[in-house]
Amino acid sequence: ALKPGSTILASTVANNFGEEIIKKVDSLKSSLPNGPLLVGFLANNDPAAEMYATWTKKSCESMGFRYELRRVEDRDFLEEAIIEANRDDSVNGIMVYYPVFGNAQDQYLQQVVSREKDVEGLNHVYYQNLYHNIRFLDSNNELKSILPCTPLAVVKIMEYLKIYNTLLPEGNRLYGRKCVVINRSEIVGRPLAALLANDGATVYSVDVNNIQKFTRGEGLKFTKHHVEDLGPYSEDLLKKCCQDSDVIITGVPSESYKIPTEYIKDGTSCINFSSFRNFDDSVKTKASLYVPMTGKVTIVMLLRNMLRLIENNQKLHGK
Ligand code: NAD
Repeated sequence: ALKPGSTILASTVANNFGEEIIKKVDSLKSSLPNGPLLVGFLANNDPAAEMYATWTKKSCESMGFRYELRRVEDRDFLEEAIIEANRDDSVNGIMVYYPVFGNAQDQYLQQVVSREKDVEGLNHVYYQNLYHNIRFLDSNNELKSILPCTPLAVVKIMEYLKIYNTLLPEGNRLYGRKCVVINRSEIVGRPLAALLANDGATVYSVDVNNIQKFTRGEGLKFTKHHVEDLGPYSEDLLKKCCQDSDVIITGVPSESYKIPTEYIKDGTSCINFSSFRNFDDSVKTKASLYVPMTGKVTIVMLLRNMLRLIENNQKLHGK
């Protein structure tokens, strides 16, 4: 018999955005004849970051952006380097490869990047808007808020997979869907769970300590997600949540972690954003759609965010 499921590569989803982005860059030619400039700061020796930087450069240059990797040998000078790029009018977007210090100082550095150049969408204002389901930065609803690029990439993948139902009104397109998100970091997992719940889904948010349920309540009565504790982490509870879900999204930063394939209901859509593969290969016998990695979509979202920032700035400064 024909195998029922399909593996979808991030590059396929990313390519889907190419045309839209190239067109926008082209329309900016009068003010940015050489293309917008993205600056990436690398202050660690992480080979994963190095690879990510190489991919970012490639994507940038294939779509009309300029990319400059700035290596900072001594991480204690990174803050100064960011401030200099904030002030430099020729720089349109800034990103930093984390972890740098691997502690709360990294969260401080995220806020040092100017909000107007924060292509990763890590500024506190953007997060607060996300959590509160606020889509605009101004009261006239002209300046669209930015979303953190990894959660946004997962949302765009879910749109591509048609998990978002376009027959439903925008903002409610996940109504009726149930999702598991294994990761509740402040960078990806918690904002992702909130985004999906704000769009109408029931989300089981899993971390090492416990499992929570994010929803907008019965009949989507709330305008933003509410959180309910379901109990401490246990394999039993995780299995129950998985068996109840249409979508499973993993982001466990460990090479050895694999979600047991037996937890997964037949026909589930499975998406992994961890740099390690959290699904065993046997997932292909259960998943309807399987997306093994998401990094290439994240990069495209960086560029999309950058264009939105430029657009916002031009609207603000009357161009
Ligand atoms: P993190 O260490 O900050 O968070 C890990 C989360 O996973 C925590 O909530 C933790 O409680 C949870 N967790 C860990 N082990 C678990 C287990 N056995 N069961 C349940 N939950 C568990 O990491 P992060 O910054 O969120 O990054 C996670 C992964 O995502 C990394 O591999 C990172 O490289 C990757 N990442 C990918 C992209 C992308 O674009 N694809 C972007 C950012 C991060």
